[in-house]
This record gives sequence, structure tokens and C-alpha cells, in this order.
Amino acid sequence: MNVNQSAPPVPPFGQPQPVYAGYHQSSYGGQPGSTAAPTPYGAYNGPVPGYQQTPPPGVSRAPASSGPPPASTAQGPCGQTAYGQFGQGDVQNGPSSGVQMQRLPGSQPFASAPLAPVVSQPAVLQPYGPPPTSAQVTAQLAGMQISGAVAPAPPASGLGYGPPTSLASASGSFPNSGLYGSYPQGQAPPLGQGHPGAQPPQRSVPPQASSFTSPASGGPRMPSMTGPLLPGQSFGGPPVSQPNHVSSPPPQALPPGTQMTGPPGPPPPMHSSQQPGYQLQQNGTFGPARGPQSNYGSPYPGAATFGSQPGPPQPLPPKRLDPDAIPSPIQVIEDDRNNRGSEPFVTGVRGQVPPLVTTNFVVKDQGNASPRYIRCTSYNIPCTSDMAKQAQVPLAAVIKPLARLPPEEASPYVVDHGESGPLRCNRCKAYMCPFMQFVEGGRRFQCCFCSCINDVPPQYFQHLDHTGKRVDAYDRPELSLGSYEFLATVDYCKNNKFPIPPAFIFMIDVSYNAVRSGLVRLLCEELKSLLDFLPREGGAEESAIRVGFVTYNKVLHFYNVKSSLAQPQMMVVSDVGDMFVPLLDGFLVNVSESRAVITSLLDQIPEMFADTRETETVFAPVIQAGMEALKAAECAGKLFVFHTSLPIAEAPGKLKNRDDRKLINTDKEKTLFQPQSGAYQTLAKECVAQGCCVDLFLFPNQYVDVATLSVVPQLTGGSVYKYACFQVENDQERFLSDLRRDVQKVVGFDAVMRVRTSTGIRAVDFFGAFYMSNTTDVELAGLDGDKTVTVEFKHDDRLNEENGALLQCALLYTSCAGQRRLRIHNLALNCCTQLADLYRNCETDTLINYMAKFAYRGVLSSPVKTVRDTLITQCAQILACYRKNCASPSSAGQLILPECMKLLPVYLNCVLKSEVLQPGAEVTTDDRAYVRQLVTSMDVAETNVFFYPRLLPLTKSPIENTTEPPAVRASEERLSNGDIYLLENGLNLFLWVGASVQQGVVQSLFGVPSFSQITSGLSVLPVLDNLLSKKVRGLIDSLRAQRSRYMKLIVVKQEDKLEMLFKHFLVEDKSLSGGASYVDFLCHMHKEIRQLLS
Ligand SMILES: [Zn+2]
Repeated sequence: MNVNQSAPPVPPFGQPQPVYAGYHQSSYGGQPGSTAAPTPYGAYNGPVPGYQQTPPPGVSRAPASSGPPPASTAQGPCGQTAYGQFGQGDVQNGPSSGVQMQRLPGSQPFASAPLAPVVSQPAVLQPYGPPPTSAQVTAQLAGMQISGAVAPAPPASGLGYGPPTSLASASGSFPNSGLYGSYPQGQAPPLGQGHPGAQPPQRSVPPQASSFTSPASGGPRMPSMTGPLLPGQSFGGPPVSQPNHVSSPPPQALPPGTQMTGPPGPPPPMHSSQQPGYQLQQNGTFGPARGPQSNYGSPYPGAATFGSQPGPPQPLPPKRLDPDAIPSPIQVIEDDRNNRGSEPFVTGVRGQVPPLVTTNFVVKDQGNASPRYIRCTSYNIPCTSDMAKQAQVPLAAVIKPLARLPPEEASPYVVDHGESGPLRCNRCKAYMCPFMQFVEGGRRFQCCFCSCINDVPPQYFQHLDHTGKRVDAYDRPELSLGSYEFLATVDYCKNNKFPIPPAFIFMIDVSYNAVRSGLVRLLCEELKSLLDFLPREGGAEESAIRVGFVTYNKVLHFYNVKSSLAQPQMMVVSDVGDMFVPLLDGFLVNVSESRAVITSLLDQIPEMFADTRETETVFAPVIQAGMEALKAAECAGKLFVFHTSLPIAEAPGKLKNRDDRKLINTDKEKTLFQPQSGAYQTLAKECVAQGCCVDLFLFPNQYVDVATLSVVPQLTGGSVYKYACFQVENDQERFLSDLRRDVQKVVGFDAVMRVRTSTGIRAVDFFGAFYMSNTTDVELAGLDGDKTVTVEFKHDDRLNEENGALLQCALLYTSCAGQRRLRIHNLALNCCTQLADLYRNCETDTLINYMAKFAYRGVLSSPVKTVRDTLITQCAQILACYRKNCASPSSAGQLILPECMKLLPVYLNCVLKSEVLQPGAEVTTDDRAYVRQLVTSMDVAETNVFFYPRLLPLTKSPIENTTEPPAVRASEERLSNGDIYLLENGLNLFLWVGASVQQGVVQSLFGVPSFSQITSGLSVLPVLDNLLSKKVRGLIDSLRAQRSRYMKLIVVKQEDKLEMLFKHFLVEDKSLSGGASYVDFLCHMHKEIRQLLS
């Protein structure tokens, strides 16, 4: 099809566009079994029919009832509304924001209260020790300042900010219950043995309590608030009590920012030495130096920390920051929802910071890519590398090229330029985009990336209007939109041949463990119906994807399921050392043609291996076989490997058990994250060359070496799922839900992504699940709508404010139907010569996404402690630079945070405390490797909730309220024992039940008469016919529908053993593995900053 020369009345690209089937899945709230159908794109410029609203003619999918509806298990009454990660809707409606900062200064004893008695040995339990900064808090209108007094607070005369009354039980036995003592925390000394102070220093102890009065509720702050006034929610209330202790420097309002004042005295001299151990490393290893490392004391758990050194004299009762006076994630999220959730985000203006990922908003593409595709750490980048180095703010973009969109937003238009293919700059090869400048009456265009002047081909010529704009600009997506697709010509295809549709190969472990757990039977049963839901495109009646089947233990069994056969045929390959594919014809088949044979096969597999005694498995040969099969079929595709055990059978890629927890906190800890054999990287490379993406479903009963097994999925753009100790009865819902979603999701195959930038900056580093054989091309055997690639940029020249900076991400891929396409995303950023402009336009959620990925890659090559220290130092440098250059003059001891980074400390602390960087005793080596690779591909919304979980009170608002309850801060002191809470982080879902919950509530929700009869660890709530039960189950369904993986529910009772697990997610508290509380970390960060400034 040729390009229209002149803008026709009918939009030139209004042709029906292929659409991804499969978008209908649960990710958007799991419209139950919606047949969601490929809907042709609307004509450009015309009203865009929300894609997938109209069922396509001829699509034979039945609604949920037939077969496995997409993630049907995750759907419920509430499931229809939310649509995925793009917003949590009304989830956290707290009191309106603006008021937050209006609280009057309150002061509070600071620091882990119970510490005082044990200061002599704080190092072990109190990573930060009693913070030297005794601080008091003042909160002010525009900014918040936390000012401190040097003088020790008066002795406590009551409860601290901790829970007084109703927590009697809590302070007595809840937080301090013997549970902690029995917790197998290797690094901590036994608790509760004559060290009362060794108790988790949260709330319960009364250090200086008298000095604190609840600012809002007018009463003492009680963790067990049953009323609507949570501490975290109290902002809306009238300013109440005044602080009993006036901060030494009078409160100053220094907007925008948060300020914390420490003692005016000189900081302790302990940070003076440069940290020697930290090595500069090359791309691929632990990243570039982030400047001098201030040697901050010692690792969290461990040796002396600053608190124990020059800190206050031991008998000083530590004072404590008021948790309500430090920046609250809940409030920031709420503010953004209120301020930005109602208006569409229009992308026409350069350098706009989009709403937060937690805000539900609609995007209108007017020339820049939607934040659903690209989010940046800053939308205003320094003009010079010197400025950038000074600020230490990483310049990075988190790119999700195939992101799913909510129904009200249109998928990118596909532009077909016919045989000439997409128009590009001759020099830098950038694709035509809205920022290209047409000159000489439209006969030429100047490249916005490299400034090269190019001729406009005759068939693309168009006149310019009086502003120099092409008159057809608004009729062409590539001239007016931030995101669009081009149909690729044969030049963009491997071997200069158009691709043939991809194939899926299911590779099923049939060893003893897999059979015995019921996995094989369950899987085969599911596949019979799931195969009807393979991704489709463009209103096709059936998927173009072909399927094949392999089973294996120590040997591989291939199946011929050719449609002409009456029965499937098995072919065994026992020479796993030299894998070959024993059949071509009949291995990869069309589902509808071979349905009878496939069904017969899936019926037979469980029977054939029912009595197997074979316990050993191979792994690398399985992937090799799948890859060879795709190669023989000359197509790209995906392997779905279902695997149970460490592959110890004699074969390439054989592994040994090398799990060794003793390596934790040693220099060799990194080996736990590294693959034990190079064979898998080699294999992955071959897979990438073939466009063979590998998704791995693991069902381990013990160590399987996830670090090694996940190498191929990681490098091929695949996914890893892990179901430890899989039992059909407990885990089938989660597994099947994940499987359905995974099989149905749209994938781009055999993809290459390139990020081009305008002169002055360039992409230097990449994070994600992919392979790179050179420094610029990100190769992805497969890329789905969940996967992101984080790209870091560095200056290589000066930028200027007028031109700004441009990014263009081009993804070349093969669609599910075998069409070769290019997806283009463009984004223009501002450039600045003032640091203040940088700090005004940052996005902390994206910074955290980058920093987490940076750190999680760092553990492959550096000691974990070094990685943590690097993060802290970088964060301190970022904030110190702001303090020095941007904040209003103020007392040297004040902590002043930029408004848009005020959550950086709390979020960073969550990263530092995560399983990978500071594992608790219950976290296995496999868990850490698993989480590490998961985070690597997460988008900003996912890392946000993963590191700072959502905690929703269920019984505080009236039952009739149908909106999601407002979230509360992730801290134990926000829990009231008379209530029930849901906590989710995208992977885990807990229902916490307070010990004093009313019996009626217990009955309504659990169907039992009393708290004691609730089964701890329950994973399914009974279906009861009452409002509360329906509401809670609906909410659970809705949360699940928003996440890319099914979250299994775990019911946790207060004071039950499982609570330990749950508390790990209360990330504002000190963690059992030694992670600092938010308050302590903020003080520590303050200290680091002062160190840098002095
Ligand atoms: Zn160019």
C-alpha cells in the first residue's frame, strides 16, 4: 500500500488495524472471560473505539463458561472495574491532602525507645543505633520541617508515640511476644534474655511518651485505633495539640521541602574516610562509581554504627521522630490522585512530569509517548555532565514498549508505507517522528536527533503551512503522535524472508515429583481447553500460533500429533548429550486441525507416567530441544517449561546443589546469584538468535538453583514462576491463573530494541530481561506487555534548554500472527541549567525502579554490603546537592528534601531491606534469586507496590462503602487489633485479623464463631452470603486483577506464628533481619547528608 500523497478526507491509516487479541485478559480488571476481541482500530482522528469492546465477528470464544476464562479465578464482583496496574483506582482515598502538612508542630521523643537500656550493645540489633540526632518535629504548611534539639528529651512519663491503652495487649505480648525470640534470625542475638531493650523497638515501649500528644485525634495516639482517625489519616483533622517540646531552631517554613534539623553541633567525624573497597566496574558489572563513598559506619546488621560511636551518651533517652510528621507515601499518593486523577494527561507539552503510577488517569497522545510506555527519573535533565555529576540523579527511562493499555486508550496505529518502508534519517537511522523539521518547502527534513538534512522521497512529499508544519501532520501518526507502529518491509526480516507465525512448545517434566504432586494431570487437563485461547491478532478466528508437546525426565519424549493420526505417537530421545529433534512433520501443529489427537495425547500423558519411579531430570537439553525444533521449523516461538527439580541427571547443564547460606554477608555471597555453569548463557544466546523465548514454571520441593535455571528465561525475555512445595489442592488456583495469563498474553517475538537520543546524551546502560551482543541493541527473543527495559543515559556533550533532549525507542518485532513490525515511542524532555529545575521534575517511583535494578544487578558482582552502601551514598548525594544548591538557606542541621523526592528515603530503605539486599532467615537462596530476576523486568507501578506494600483496612469504613478503603502506612502501629487488613505487594496477599475483632465480623467473614477458630494460613475465604464477605472477596479479586501474577491469599492471625512473615511487609518498621525503621533511616540519611555538606 502506498502512502497517500495528499491528505485524503479519509484518514490514510484508518484501515482496520490488527489488534492484539489477548488484551482482554485479566490485567484490566479481568473482565470475566470477556471475549474481548480484537476490534479494528478506529480511524485515526476519529473517535477511537476502545479496543476490545466489540466482540469480533466470528470469534468463537465463549465467555467465561467455556474453558478457562482468562484468569477467571482472579475475577470477582470487583474485577470488572480496575484495569491493571494503571491505577489502583480509589484505593487509597485518605483524607484530602493539602491539609497534610498543616499539622502543627508536634514533637516526639525520637529513636527506638527501648533502645536506651541496651545501648551498650546496640550494634547488633540496632543497625543505626540510637540516632545521634534527637529530633523533634514541626510540620508546616508548604513544607515540612523536622527540627531537632540537641538536648535529650525528658524522661518518658508515658507511652511514646507508641500505643497506650488498647494496645495493652499489644505492648505486652504482641510485639514482644516470644515469637521474636524463636525467630531464627541468625544475625541477632537471642532476644528477650535479659535484654529487654533487644525487643523490637517498635512502639510499645514508653520512652518519652509524655512529650508526645497525638496531634490530630486529640487523644493519645493509639495503634489500635478503632475509629476513623488513624494516625496516618489524621491530617485532615484540625490542628490540635502543640508539641510539648519546642524544637530548638524555630520552625521555618521552607517550601517546598521537608526539613529536619539535627543538632547544630558538628557531626560525628566517623564518615571521613573514603570507602576503599568499592570498585569501579564496567558495564555489566556493578556499575559506575557514584562518587566517593562515605564510609557509613557499618553494615546494617553488624558492627558498630554511627549511633554507638559519637552518639549521645548512653543514658540519654533517645528521642523519636513523629512518624506522622515525616513524609507519608500514603499521603503523597493520595495528593496526586486528588490533584491529577481527574484530568487526562495530555502529552503535547515537552518535559511534563506525568501523574504517579498509583493515580488512575487517562492519557492523550499528542506527540510524546504515554507514561505507560516510558517513564523517566527526571523530565528536565541537566545541560551538562558536570551538573549531572553534581546532582547524582540517575538519568534513566523505564520503557515498556508493548505495555497494555486500558480500554479507553487506543493501541498505537499501524502505518504502512508500502515497499519503501518507514522513512528514516539517512545518518542516524532514526524513524520519522513529530520532532523532525521539514524545510525547503517540505522537500527536505532535518533530523531532530543528529541534525542531518535528508531528502523527502517524492511519494512522501507534502506542502508546509505558514508555520512550517506539514499540512498533513495531523493525518499521519508518525508526524503527530508519540507512539505508533510501522509495518516492516522484508529488509527488516531475518534472512530477508518474512517470518512465519511463531509456535508454542509445552515441555512437561514427568518425573516422580511432578506426577506425584498432581501437577502433570492438572496441567494436561488445563491445556486441553487453554489451547483455544492462544493469542490472536486482527480479528482472526483462530490463533496463527502452532503448538508442540514434549515430556521429559532423564530422557525426552517428542509427540507427533499430526491431524491425520488416530493416536499421537511418541518418540524417545535418550541421547540428551546431543539433542536433536526426531520429527518435523507433525510436531508443530495447528490446534484446531489436530484437536482430537492433542486431546488424546493430553489424556494419555498422566496415565503413561502415573507409575514412574524416575526422579532425575535434565534441563538444558529440554531447552535445547525446543530451540532446535523452532529452528527446524524456521520460526520464532516460546517454550513453556514445567520443571520440578535440580537437574542432576548426566547431561549438559547438569547442576549440583551448591546452596550455602553461610555465604550470606560474606564476599562470596554474590556467587549465590551467579549461575553455576556457563552452559546456560551459551544456550540462551542460541535461543535469542532463534527468537526462542523461554517461560519457566518451577515446582521445587527444595533447592533447584533458580539463579542458574532462570538464566535462559532472563536472557530470552521470558518469565519465571515459582511454586514451592506445589500441592494441587493448595496451589492450583494460583498456578492455573498464572498459566492462563501467560499463555494468552501477547508477545512480540524475535525483537530488537534500540534507543536513540538527540545529540548530547546517549543510552549507556540497560536493565531487564534480554540479551545484548553489542552496546546498543537490546535483543529480546520475546517481549510481552509486562516487561520493561530500564535504560540509563549519560551526557556526551552539552545540551541546551531550547532544544531539549529527545528519546526514540524503536522496537522491531514479529507479532503473534507473524507480521514484522516496528513500534516507535518518542519522548521529548526539557533541559536545564539550574539544578532546581532538575529537582522539581523528578519522579521518585522511577528513580527507585532504576536504583533497585541497579542494586539487584550489583549483587552479581559486589558484596551486598557494598551495594547497599552505594545506594545510601548516592541517595545522600542527591539530597545533599539539593540541600546545598536549591534549598533556601537554613540552619545547617536541617534536613530538607525536594518535594518530588520526599519519599526517596522511605522507598530506598524498602529496597535496602528487601530479600535480595538484606535477607531474613526465612528467605531461601532460591527466593532471593527469584525476586532478583523478577524485579529486573518490573515496571514502575510494580516496583512501587513491591517495595512499599499496600495495607488496606477492611473494617473501618462502613460496610456499604463500595470503594476500596483508603490505605494506611505499612507499619505495625497502624494496625488495630479490632480490625482486619489486607496487605498486598503484587506477589503476596495477606489478610491480617486482629485478636479483638468483633465476633460478628469473624462470623461474617470466616463462618466461625470466634477468632480462635479461624484457621491460620487459610488461603480461601468461605463464600458467605453477607455484605462483608462479598465486599472482602470482591476486593481481593480486584487486587488480583490489577497485578500481573496471581497473589495467593494467606490469612494471618494476630500473634500467630505466621505473623512473622506478615511483619516483613510492614516496611516502615524495623525489620527482623536488621533493616532500619523509616524513622531511623531518615535520621541516618540526614546524618549522611550533613556529612557530605560539612
Ligand atoms: Zn539523524
